[in-house]
Amino acid sequence: MAFDYDLFIIGAGSAGVRAARISANHGARVAIAEESRVGGTCVIRGCVPKKLLVYASHYGEDFEDAEGYGWAGPRPTFDWARLIANKDKEIDRLNAAYKSTLAKAGAALIESRAELIDRNTISVGGKQVTAEVILIATGSWPEMPKVPGIEHAISSNECFHLEKLPERVVVVGGGYIALEFAGIFNGLGAKATVLYRGEQVLRGFDHDVRQFLQDELAKKGIDVRCRTDVARIDKAAGGLAVTLSDGTAIDCDQILYATGRRPLTRTMGLEKVGVALDDIGAIKVDGWSKSSVPNIYAVGDCTNRVNLTPVAIREGHAFADSVFGKRPWMVDHADFPSAVFTQPPVATVGDTEERARAKYGEVDIYRETFRPMKHTLSGRSERTLMKLVVDRKTQAVVGAHMVGMDAPEIIQTLAVAVKLKATKQQVDQTIAIHPTAAEEFVTMRTPVAAE
Ligand code: NDP
Repeated sequence: MAFDYDLFIIGAGSAGVRAARISANHGARVAIAEESRVGGTCVIRGCVPKKLLVYASHYGEDFEDAEGYGWAGPRPTFDWARLIANKDKEIDRLNAAYKSTLAKAGAALIESRAELIDRNTISVGGKQVTAEVILIATGSWPEMPKVPGIEHAISSNECFHLEKLPERVVVVGGGYIALEFAGIFNGLGAKATVLYRGEQVLRGFDHDVRQFLQDELAKKGIDVRCRTDVARIDKAAGGLAVTLSDGTAIDCDQILYATGRRPLTRTMGLEKVGVALDDIGAIKVDGWSKSSVPNIYAVGDCTNRVNLTPVAIREGHAFADSVFGKRPWMVDHADFPSAVFTQPPVATVGDTEERARAKYGEVDIYRETFRPMKHTLSGRSERTLMKLVVDRKTQAVVGAHMVGMDAPEIIQTLAVAVKLKATKQQVDQTIAIHPTAAEEFVTMRTPVAAE
């Protein structure tokens, strides 16, 4: 049977666009459908605009820090509308660049919602088209729990388009998005309160990182309340009243729910054509990103493997090379680095101390905390944490963790060493760059005593 396309992709985010470009370069006839804006979560309402807001929010502190370095003068004022307009301009530029990437590759872009009719037929833009292979790359969407008054809450999507900067923000959740936005709002001058249901924020991260970050956030003036649940949200004079399960209430102007994201896989015909989903709706795939239907593949957040843009991009690339490039390879999901763009930021690669102890038994822990040199003159009390986790038997560095200025930039490079299974001795042989914070990673000589 002749198909209209060799490959039809649903979702033009990071994973879908990469898969489209590489498949087309391999000679496939490709179409890609997008119901929102080309670029997906990362570019349109995630990583990129978030990072721009993080930069913006740091200036308040930077102006204060400058005084210790001899700078003086009236404090500049902040204009939220200007920031949002400039951010939107940059997002428009990236959206156009992504479209141009698809056009240059020769992939047909259909700006419409797509649904599966059968295993080779897609309904899109008012007509039906056929394809030999279908790739689902529809990403994920914020999950809003059923709390009375949840309709008054916003998700991270809306944070990028608020008409004005709220003066008081309550953030629910203790993960990546909650803490990043708490930092953004706090840095821009809002009063930020984080409500987290667990014992300590950033569940799954190294315990030292979690404690250290929580302390640093408190120093910045963020009110982090753990073991705290929201009972209801009501409209109140001049804003919202958030009632907690202990009966107390907090008044705010906005309440942000950052309580996780769900794969976007419902109501698009997947179950009807036999694609198996797990209990949260993620598409079940094998190591080749193949679903339970042999010609239907899925990559990125809709598969809920490692929900990070660079991983999704790699999954899209591996799919394209494997299915259309006669060059099969699988994504290695082990030891991926990641960062939380809080203030100060967190970055991490490999095993936490807890995971390493479970995996290897005996481990050596190297840990330093210090005041960054910049803050000797600024007077700020912010501190940095660096930690290496070493398998005692092989001396391989199996984890590196940092909370502090430039942590994501530093850990990205150190991730190469962890990925290559460098030993502690090899790390120690590396000459330091002085004076930097990063040099601490190659000069930590004495393991901390067992605790
Ligand atoms: P996370 O899974 O990181 O965090 C969700 C948080 O909400 C957790 O603290 C969780 O608590 C809490 N929570 C979940 N359900 C409820 C509920 N019903 N009531 C109260 N609290 C609840 O999700 P995010 O939304 O922060 O981010 C989604 C994903 O996006 C991340 O996992 C990450 O993969 C990706 N991301 C990555 C970024 C980066 O790389 N910098 C930035 C932003 C997102 P508990 O711990 O108890 O489960």
